[in-house]
Amino acid sequence: MSGNWKMNHDHHQAISTVQRLIFRLRPEDYRVADVCIHPPFTDLRSVQVVLDNDDPQLMLGAQHCYWEESGAFTGEVSAAMLAKLGVTYVIAGHSERRQLFGDTDEMVARRVRAILANGMTPILCVGETGEERDQGWTLERIRDQVKGSLDGCTADQVGSMVVAYEPIWAIGTGRTATPDDAQAGAHAVRAEVEARFGPEAASTVRIQYGGSVNPANARQLMSHPDVDGVLVGGASLDADSFAAIVASLVQE
Ligand code: PEP
Repeated sequence: MSGNWKMNHDHHQAISTVQRLIFRLRPEDYRVADVCIHPPFTDLRSVQVVLDNDDPQLMLGAQHCYWEESGAFTGEVSAAMLAKLGVTYVIAGHSERRQLFGDTDEMVARRVRAILANGMTPILCVGETGEERDQGWTLERIRDQVKGSLDGCTADQVGSMVVAYEPIWAIGTGRTATPDDAQAGAHAVRAEVEARFGPEAASTVRIQYGGSVNPANARQLMSHPDVDGVLVGGASLDADSFAAIVASLVQE
């Protein structure tokens, strides 16, 4: 269960949000889920200190990284730097990075390999645009992105990763996919992982749905077998709503 804050919450707001989230999450949530928040880079150290002191079960994530370890790459932050900060999960290839900042599958694959090499878990994002969906290219697009973005990874590495199926037309739009759409996309991810990396990797890779998830729709969206969790943007900015989404995974 991942909360992507995108470019929201300065470090003061981050501290109060994470404190409220810690107060809201329950032991039974942690029994069924890995829960992670992905604040902007400038908040990571402040949030890390709160988590270390108050709730080591809630994991720290990042939204992006560069693949080189250090050097003349102005403005970039390396996977190695994130690992030093206690980051566990790093998002790679979010559609906003692909669409606004020119990330290609090849660049995403380099990020994925750097995240793995530094002992962290990538959350690889894939998904089709509205136009691709209208043309009937959804499954082909997912397959291409999975193939290209996992280039150079081993079956063991892929089996330990998270892949988020995020249809771009559903991100930040309030237009959520149906549970059947989420299942179809997640199944396409799993099938492509199986074709390239074998049945073991396909059975252990964790697949999320992402796109306008909220407390009212989260449970339904996770009701099909290939959807293991959710990647939440807007609704994760508010601690109460993200905690309610996490709680929806716990069986009554
Ligand atoms: C996201 O940022 O990955 C996302 C799914 O955003 P939202 O939940 O706001 O659609």
